[in-house]
Amino acid sequence: MLIVKKFGGTSVANKERIFHVAERCIQDYKNGDDVVVVLSAMGKYTDELIDMAHDINERPSKREMDMLLTIGEQMSVALMAMAMEKLSIPAVSLNAFQVSMHTTSAHSNARLKRIDTERIRRELENRKIVIVTGFQGVNKYDDFTTLGRGGSDTTAVALAAALHADACEIYTDVDGIYTADPRLVPNAKKLTEITYDEMLDLATLGAGVLHNRSVEMAKKYGVPLVVRSSLNDSEGTVVKEEVSVERMLISGVALDTDAVRIAVIGLKDVPGMAFRLFDILAKKNINVDVILQSIGRNGTKDISFTVADTVLDEAVALLEANQNRLGYKELHADRNIAKLSIVGAGMMSNPGVAAKMFESLYNENVNINMISTSEIRVTVLINEKDGVRAMNAVHDAFNLAD
Ligand code: ADP
Ligand code: ASP
Ligand code: MG
Repeated sequence: MLIVKKFGGTSVANKERIFHVAERCIQDYKNGDDVVVVLSAMGKYTDELIDMAHDINERPSKREMDMLLTIGEQMSVALMAMAMEKLSIPAVSLNAFQVSMHTTSAHSNARLKRIDTERIRRELENRKIVIVTGFQGVNKYDDFTTLGRGGSDTTAVALAAALHADACEIYTDVDGIYTADPRLVPNAKKLTEITYDEMLDLATLGAGVLHNRSVEMAKKYGVPLVVRSSLNDSEGTVVKEEVSVERMLISGVALDTDAVRIAVIGLKDVPGMAFRLFDILAKKNINVDVILQSIGRNGTKDISFTVADTVLDEAVALLEANQNRLGYKELHADRNIAKLSIVGAGMMSNPGVAAKMFESLYNENVNINMISTSEIRVTVLINEKDGVRAMNAVHDAFNLAD
């Protein structure tokens, strides 16, 4: 069997944990399996590197930022290989250059395009455990790129797909995927299974347990994923195309506090305005989420939308630079918002799910600023300070508790 095992930051945060992970990988190796390990930077090291950068320059170029952040993963893979050497197991650490992980050029948010598996195969044939840096890639200019925060999950799934691995295991600091972030909703329940589509929505809407692109890629290549704890042996959660357990009405609640709302006030109420506005942002790769347009009045209208807070400055600067072209009157940004979502394929055939969510928010006296829905999700924009309370209320209303 060929197994890809990915361990997140907490799982390799110190010497003891590194040895613990090494032992877990060695067990599979001794069973005769081929083992590829993908690691994140130790603990909060990526955050520390970001702080260091901002201490030197508040707006460092994305290229240099990627050059810096790739250090974190390179450090953990080398230390892990040393731990395995110490335990007398042959291991080799490889970075994105050595593996040839080709990505798009977009620094800080690159997409994996192609992985050359030859080097990894060769090392596996020599019966080595192969330890690969997560999160990083290389673009066509031979510069390091990174895949976005939490991107090591995507490295693991991409490797599993490219190597036709038999299993892809994502080890983290919780026991699996829960109906809500167990750190925010104490009575959240662990799921035994979840579909790719539901997990993709949850991940995109703030459930940071998996990088959303990793789920997208797992679905595309049919990679069965298991999310489980690196600290104990409990079973974890399987992410796959179809689930066998009876569907619940909704499978999870997600909260995203990294969203920011931008309101563009006083746009001319003529055709093509929305196109012009969002085209300017799209050309710079800025993702826009919940969008609300007011009804035109006196020849003008307003458009509000959310973006990730990491791109707020860039988005505002772009819109300000285009104020004449767009002809709007004012621009406001609100950081104190949160996006609360419920996700579940079960809601397709059940009317009244949205109403139930709104009722539970009303009972908690939580005001809703914007609403957006799809077949399998409902998202509302609320004040950030209400976020966790609202999340627990909605979670309770759908009886998701353990
Ligand atoms: P890693 O460093 O292992 O990649 P992350 O911090 O990226 O770990 O992801 C694990 C965290 O995701 C958990 O500690 C938990 O707080 C959070 N989380 C958010 N939503 C969920 C969810 N629905 N189920 C489980 N964990 C969740
Ligand atoms: N170290 C990176 C981050 O903190 C990638 C990851 O952990 O997946 O975002
Ligand atoms: Mg993660």
